[in-house]
This record gives sequence, structure tokens and C-alpha cells, in this order.
Amino acid sequence: MTRCAEARQTICEYGRRAVELGLVLGTSGNLSVRTGDLVAVTPAGVALDALTPEMCPVVDLDGYLVEGELQPSSETPLHLAIYHSTFAQAVCHTHSTFATVVATTRTELPAVHYNALQLGGTVRVAEYATYGTPELAEHVRTAMEGKSAALMANHGGVTIGATLAQAFEASRLLEWLCEVYVRGLGVGEPVVLTPEQLDAVVERSLNPPVFPRR
Ligand code: 13P
Ligand code: ZN
Repeated sequence: MTRCAEARQTICEYGRRAVELGLVLGTSGNLSVRTGDLVAVTPAGVALDALTPEMCPVVDLDGYLVEGELQPSSETPLHLAIYHSTFAQAVCHTHSTFATVVATTRTELPAVHYNALQLGGTVRVAEYATYGTPELAEHVRTAMEGKSAALMANHGGVTIGATLAQAFEASRLLEWLCEVYVRGLGVGEPVVLTPEQLDAVVERSLNPPVFPRR
């Protein structure tokens, strides 16, 4: 029986896109999709643009291998910690350049653009721990609380979504926001939006103007 066939197919599709768009390099980064009590994940140490659905292992929420020949991503504990603590159905972890740049400074990414609201506002930086460890998983879980993104100190970024398409777009947005911030720092002091200004954006998006028809 082939489990999580659709999820594994989607992972391959977004793996290719992640490489094409430069969000990951070589075998860096990993993706997962939850289907009920099972999680399809990228295999450890395989370039994300070289995946076929059969190569993607399936694990249960306790981390036991349920299907597949290859070992699951070393960051599987991180993915599972997120599934245990959120309603996320997909997780995207990248080493994208600007996200990693900001993460090396270990200072949170302030809301210098209103699109940051899509990630929950200010993005925290999870404390550093060796890749693949339960400690790193726990730090990321803490940093993600109430957010759909976190930076990982001296490592990269992680985003979640109701679908892999959503989690992937969140990673693209995280990278864009980090790039805007880093480039802004090169020009001057980026101004952080106030809570009132961010509230006004939420208010506006909840009550869009209706243009009268002529
Ligand atoms: P994997 O190849 O094991 O997924 O590791 C890549 C990575 O990004 C580790 O943090
Ligand atoms: Zn990584």
C-alpha cells in the first residue's frame, strides 16, 4: 500500500521549486506534509530537486518510519514538534540567504513591512542548537508560538501552513522580508511599524472598501 501518495508528490514539486528559486542549496532544507496521523517528509541528505515520491519517507507522529527505504530528514524531530504543537499541515525549512543572514545576528526580524503580519508580525529567532537535535526542535517550537515563521540562529528559517503551498509561500515571504530589512540596514535605519499601524492594516484587510459599480 502506498501511503500519503499525494503528499509525497507535492513534496517533490515544491522541492524542485525551492531549488529553482534558490531557497535551498544542495541538500540543505527539508519539507513535510501531514496527512492525519502520518507525515511525509523529504529524505535525509538528498537534494530537494532530485526527489521522486517513493524516495520520501512517511513517519508517524512519534517518529517511527512507516513507509519508505530512505531515512527521513535529520530535522524530522523539528517537523514533528511543530505538528504536535500547532494546527499546521505542512512545514518548510530552508537555508535561504537573507533569512540566514538575519538569523546569524540572532536579533528578531521586526515588522518593517505590513506583509510581516502574514507571518504573525515580528519573527523571532530560535536559539542555536545543533541541527537535527531535539533541543533545536524545542527552540523552534518555542520561537514559533503564535507565529507561522521562525528564524533559526546561524542556520535558516522555518515556516508552516495549512498546505505545503502555503508554507512554501510563507518561506518566500520570510526571505523577501529579511532581504528588505537587510538592504534597508545598508541604506539607513529601517523604521518599524507601530502596533497601531499594524492594527490598522488588520482592520483594513477585514473591511475592504467596496467600489460602487457605475
Ligand atoms: P536533511 O538533508 O537531513 O534534511 O538536512 C538538511 C538540513 O537542512 C538540516 O538542518
Ligand atoms: Zn537546516
